[in-house]
Amino acid sequence: MISRKKMLKILAGFPLFGGIAAAKIGDADAQTASTSSVSAVAERDLFEELGIETLINGRGTLTFLSGSLMQPEVVKAIKSTSDEFANLYEVQDKVGRRIAELLNCEAAMVTSGAAGALTLGTAATITGTDEEKIKKLPNLPGPRREVIIQKRHRYSYDHAVRNTGIRMVEVESAAEMEEAINDRTVMSLFFNAAAQFGGFEHSIGHEEFVAISRKHDIPSFIDAAADVPPPENLFKYIEIGFDLVTFSGGKAIRGPQSAGLLYGRNDLIEAAKLNHNPHSNSIGRGMKVNKEEIFGMMVALESYLERDHEQQWEEWVGWTETIAEEAETLPSVSGELKVNEGPANHFPDLQLSWDQSQVGISPEEVVKKLKEGKPRIEISSNDEGLYITVVMMKPEQVDIVARRIREVLEQAV
Ligand SMILES: *Cc1c(COP(=O)(O)O)cnc(C)c1O
Repeated sequence: MISRKKMLKILAGFPLFGGIAAAKIGDADAQTASTSSVSAVAERDLFEELGIETLINGRGTLTFLSGSLMQPEVVKAIKSTSDEFANLYEVQDKVGRRIAELLNCEAAMVTSGAAGALTLGTAATITGTDEEKIKKLPNLPGPRREVIIQKRHRYSYDHAVRNTGIRMVEVESAAEMEEAINDRTVMSLFFNAAAQFGGFEHSIGHEEFVAISRKHDIPSFIDAAADVPPPENLFKYIEIGFDLVTFSGGKAIRGPQSAGLLYGRNDLIEAAKLNHNPHSNSIGRGMKVNKEEIFGMMVALESYLERDHEQQWEEWVGWTETIAEEAETLPSVSGELKVNEGPANHFPDLQLSWDQSQVGISPEEVVKKLKEGKPRIEISSNDEGLYITVVMMKPEQVDIVARRIREVLEQAV
């Protein structure tokens, strides 16, 4: 028979199992084994171990590219809160109070991203504090509840609102909105970046949308998930009068990628919390946020509000210049600073263009070569050439991106 000691030794030899087995068995030997394998985790390259190639992100805060990198102080907050227990209701309440103070609003909570906030905020407007309704959601007896939205504001994330069982009612003017509101209406939803992505003006502007909702006593909710910088936007929509606001935590705020902010009216935030983890019989139970990320979100917000945003902007502009200047050493290549006016992804980006009779490669081919090269670099292309978002790069990656783009273009000269 293999002795327990020997077994531990064998298991400890497997990096994946050493820590787990040792921790379960739990004698003096196990303690040693556990400590050593845990410290070994810090030295392991887990990406490498599983053959996952990391990448340089030149496309922005896209979820499929893992969004953003947490600020170092966020990682510290996560680490510093991870080895004690706390009551999760208390953590959410007290962190929420701090966030509400920071954002000059009545109440706030940390959600599982802006998408989680959309579901919980909607649930709150349907159920209030009614326990029976909370338990039954999304299958409430009676007619389906309705959410009013401008027709051109329909978007993929409204799925997170529809999760609650509501029906979307589309309107195209203030008059239509007035007419559409009835006993079944629970909420109005405004997608802040709709006009930017759709290339139109909102047919009902922010103020009018809020005024109509108020007049009929319907809570209004604005999705501004990707709409910082500028940091002032975190305050703007509460000032306009929206009852609920959401921002992603894991985009430009650089909090935990799985966290987000929901804030606004106190009664609605209280109702949203009742629809959330740790209440097991609730629509939000699967949208759990652990205490570490709740704290991490709070620290990310503090840090974001304290940051010198002008200096940050200048640094980003400098990065676009570094990349442009190196590429411009080649014939016909020219770089242009493109400020994305937002409200979503309001960043200084770089457009690189060239004459393909002088540099014989298409933008799509350059994108492909960069993705397949070492290190792997992700950027976008458009009709005019390469479109590069620098804001999610690490400072030391800027020169690498500049060099790789120059190399790929140079091969085609
Ligand atoms: C990114 C985004 C979301 C989802 O945000 P998560 O924090 O990833 O859940 C929702 N709405 C809009 C408009 C977004 O841009």
